[in-house]
Amino acid sequence: MKERLMKLESLRDLLIEQVQDIYDAENRITKALPKMAKAARSPQLKQAFEKHLEETKGHVQRLEQVFDHLREKVKKKNCKAMEGLIAEGEETIKEDADPEVRDAALIAAAQRVEHYEMAGYGTLSAYAKLLKEKNVLKLLQATLAAEKATDEALTVLAETAINVEAE
Ligand code: FE
Ligand code: FE
Repeated sequence: MKERLMKLESLRDLLIEQVQDIYDAENRITKALPKMAKAARSPQLKQAFEKHLEETKGHVQRLEQVFDHLREKVKKKNCKAMEGLIAEGEETIKEDADPEVRDAALIAAAQRVEHYEMAGYGTLSAYAKLLKEKNVLKLLQATLAAEKATDEALTVLAETAINVEAE
């Protein structure tokens, strides 16, 4: 199905389009994280994915508030990048791998997702700032901080127990 794309005439239009994109991405992640948690062997990694699932549900709600502040209806724009990142994560789950190695691969897949989100929220924050949308900016920055914290927690897991065992 070919998507109808909106015409972009202003930075505000671009902000809205990118909010629609990341809204789609976050919704996809809420479906992928339970599978990642199930596939993880390390209890800490399982817990990290479960914790981030709960946070991600909050990110979805924050984006709904963003639409509200912008007086736009809640809408998704197919995020092909997240679709691809999640497809790669699912390949990781299906691959024939030692559990420790799979855990390391799951972290790698999850960090790619977090970095994609950080790029998105960083850009959106810059637009919100330029457009003087203070409430929107606050919401976006709260999620950006959570994505960064998740990325850092995954780095710690990768550098400690998990990747050491995978060696
Ligand atoms: Fe998120
Ligand atoms: Fe995230």
